[in-house]
Amino acid sequence: MKFAMRRNVLSSLVCGAVLASLSLAAPLAHASKDHPEIGFCIDDLRVERWSRDRDYFVAAAEKLGAKVSVQSADASEERQISQIENLISRGVDVIVIVPFNSKTLGNVVAEAHKAGIKVVSYDRLILDADIDAYISFDNEKVGEMQAQGVYDVRPKGNYFLLGGAPTDNNAKMLRQGQLKVLQPAIDKGDIKVVGQQWVPEWSASTALRIMEDALTANNNKIDAVVASNDGTAGGAIQALAAQNLAGKVPISGQDADLAAVKRVKAGTQTMTVYKPLKLIAGEAAKLSVALAKGDKPGFNAQYDNGKRKVDTVLLQPTKLTKANIDIVVKDGFYTDAQLASK
Ligand code: BGC
Repeated sequence: MKFAMRRNVLSSLVCGAVLASLSLAAPLAHASKDHPEIGFCIDDLRVERWSRDRDYFVAAAEKLGAKVSVQSADASEERQISQIENLISRGVDVIVIVPFNSKTLGNVVAEAHKAGIKVVSYDRLILDADIDAYISFDNEKVGEMQAQGVYDVRPKGNYFLLGGAPTDNNAKMLRQGQLKVLQPAIDKGDIKVVGQQWVPEWSASTALRIMEDALTANNNKIDAVVASNDGTAGGAIQALAAQNLAGKVPISGQDADLAAVKRVKAGTQTMTVYKPLKLIAGEAAKLSVALAKGDKPGFNAQYDNGKRKVDTVLLQPTKLTKANIDIVVKDGFYTDAQLASK
């Protein structure tokens, strides 16, 4: 065993402690494969979409015989790490993680593996860590849709790029997709990027402040905004509205949040991206239960996370504009009454 190969006294003491904690966890661990235990660690349940992910995931996993323990880190890196450590010591079979910080979970993932626990990265890729699987919508495609939606309406002018959280790998993938669409027009001089900023924690109120500052710095001469999700778009639209520019400056989003779908209908937001959460949550539940049982799940992609090529389930997003916004009702994501409510 690996531990025996370590040479100095200190490391053997540490190893002793690790072994002791493993044996403490052992009686609970991996109790019955028919009823696996899954920990679902979500970055921030205060954000609209994640509570839907939670509900769909728990329902799907329970249907498959699993028991789920849900944790929300409320955008705290330390809290997320201690929640994962807690699940490890409880001896769950699989831990599914929506990381707050994509870059800081390498050690705790290694701890989980030592305890025989599988780790699934949900929606956001955990970097530099030995994870077992990743499931997400195609984030680069989402970024392309965002830029294309704005570009179709405003192919020339001053663009502001409002990025996501710098701690979230998705924010970078979205930006890659956005630039894939915009770069030719930037190179031609049709589009001038007058500013770009990441929004820590994807905070709507920070996005509002950033947009206010950008409008001031540019004497309101911003012709288009590529915002990376609906929450931050909402903040930016508030700043545009204060200058009488809402509905005049095209702006993107993603998630089909209820408020955003209403804004698309009203014309103050140009587009959003629909990612059926029931689909990702249901597929993630199947994947997790399969991993717990030692079955080989089906994958359709691989992503290099800096540590390894990670087997991935990649799902397809849908671009929503005023023209096809009804999809969210047809698909059961919202009812007509919800869309009509104030
Ligand atoms: C998700 C988006 C979400 C954002 C903020 C991203 O990683 O892909 O759907 O809006 O995080 O929570």
